[in-house]
Amino acid sequence: MDLVLLGAPGAGKGTQAERLEQWLAIPQVSSGDLFRVNIAEGTALGRAAQSYIDRGALVPDDVTIGMVAERLAEADCADGAILDGFPRTVAQAKALDELLAEMGRQVDLVPYVTVARETLLERLGGRWTCRACGAVYHQVYRPPEVTGVCDVCGGELYQRPDDTAETQARRIDVYMQETSPLIAYYRERGLLVEIDGERSIDEVEAALRAAVSSMERASSYCP
Ligand code: AMP
Repeated sequence: MDLVLLGAPGAGKGTQAERLEQWLAIPQVSSGDLFRVNIAEGTALGRAAQSYIDRGALVPDDVTIGMVAERLAEADCADGAILDGFPRTVAQAKALDELLAEMGRQVDLVPYVTVARETLLERLGGRWTCRACGAVYHQVYRPPEVTGVCDVCGGELYQRPDDTAETQARRIDVYMQETSPLIAYYRERGLLVEIDGERSIDEVEAALRAAVSSMERASSYCP
């Protein structure tokens, strides 16, 4: 099964993708995480992406599509993936359709997690990320047990440079301009399911599970 999680930065896609990963036993593929690993490792791709990420702009499609294509070709993605942060443009969505078609697959469902702009800014402002494993915390909504330390792996928590005040607003604007056309793209294909992301993490998770289960029931129904 291949899922595309849509939603603005701060909508909670990463948190929900982690939970769906456990439940569905298919990996989360986060383009943002892949870029951060490349930057931390100092690869050529990381160097190419860094300046875009630092200013909250989108990394060019060719770089991004190539990186995600390589990830989807890995063995653990053979049964599907939960795409988080990719696609972000219609060109990326078309490239994903082609990539999956080559593997005899398709996008099965696109949950779109909706959250008001003020909530997005509030969430991004308090967000802390584990330097080692990428787990995401929030100082109010999801605090770690020990301040500054990851509950999962004991790694150091830090604020992403692109989670600073100036870049946050820019990332949300970029999302509205460049990523919102994807909503129409997937709605026209009958794949979009809107999920109210203003609710608690558990409630959003339950809504996502219900959407996945109902898609599975519909696709196994052969009259
Ligand atoms: P994220 O962790 O998804 O919020 O992504 C962090 C940053 O990585 C974004 O603000 C972009 O600069 C870059 N990025 C992540 N995914 C993509 C994508 N699909 N296309 C272009 N740039 C991306």
